[in-house]
Amino acid sequence: MSRARAWPSRLVLLGHPLGHTLSPAIHGAALRSAGIDVEYRALDVPPDALPATLDALIAERAAGNVTIPHKGAVAARCERLTDVARRAGAVNTFWCEDGALVGHNTDVGGFDASVRALLDDVPRAARVAVIGAGGAAGAVLAAVEGWPRCDARVWNRTAERADALVSRFPRAAREASLADALDGAALVVNATSVGLRDDALPVPIDALPRDAAVLDLVYRPGETEWVRAARAAGHRAADGLPMLVEQAALAEERWFDVPADREAMWGAVGGRPEWMRVPDR
Ligand code: NAP
Repeated sequence: MSRARAWPSRLVLLGHPLGHTLSPAIHGAALRSAGIDVEYRALDVPPDALPATLDALIAERAAGNVTIPHKGAVAARCERLTDVARRAGAVNTFWCEDGALVGHNTDVGGFDASVRALLDDVPRAARVAVIGAGGAAGAVLAAVEGWPRCDARVWNRTAERADALVSRFPRAAREASLADALDGAALVVNATSVGLRDDALPVPIDALPRDAAVLDLVYRPGETEWVRAARAAGHRAADGLPMLVEQAALAEERWFDVPADREAMWGAVGGRPEWMRVPDR
């Protein structure tokens, strides 16, 4: 495949505060496997330093990823957005083309792929309960609208934020209570940060519809308590690690136009979880 543009000078992850992040290890594995000598580094950038940082990155033709709290601000700064970034209302992947900043969103594809892995396909004619209304929930709703005859019911701690989110998605509605959002859902998604730092559950296990699958966008070593408890109660359940690895792979493929080595990327985070492993034949 011929490349329309040169490789980026370097790769960065923009966020604040960043703390420990798996992204440099995951991307480093993909870059090494592809023999690409480009560095990927986490950059902790406070919001007031973001405009100048982006100017400098554009000048040096860098590319990268974006995480909390910059996904909306980078989207607003981009000269061009891909359709999926415009739909999600957030940018998690960017690059430079002819001096212009281009924004994309691989969280949508990462989420879609993790649901396909968990359920063997995307849901059809089904209801999806989405807990949360931030940038990640926008990516979830953008994926759900690509699934046949599916709709989403959103519940968020701050109702106004859920109203603003669903107003952009005709197949999504805000529910006044968690119970209403869960009613009849075939898939329940945690798109909040509940469970990130402790064992708090975004949804009590006994409130889950009996046959619902559970997808937690949060990931922690050894999976989240919500995922472990849901699985113990008989639900199909996955945490956010498959989405994290896939959104990183999709970003690599955007930057370099070569297939990303997903096995190498999984290797950087200890390998695929048990439920994703293909049994030996
Ligand atoms: P965000 O824009 O800051 O939104 C945070 C969301 O969490 C909001 O809905 C917020 O509700 C809710 N929330 C926070 N603390 C809460 C609490 N104590 N109780 C109830 N709700 C609470 O963040 P985001 O970008 O959407 O990310 C959300 C989560 O998804 C994060 O944990 C992030 O790590 C994860 N994520 C994972 C991946 C992946 O690849 N696996 C990708 C993207 C994001 P309010 O509106 O009421 O504040």
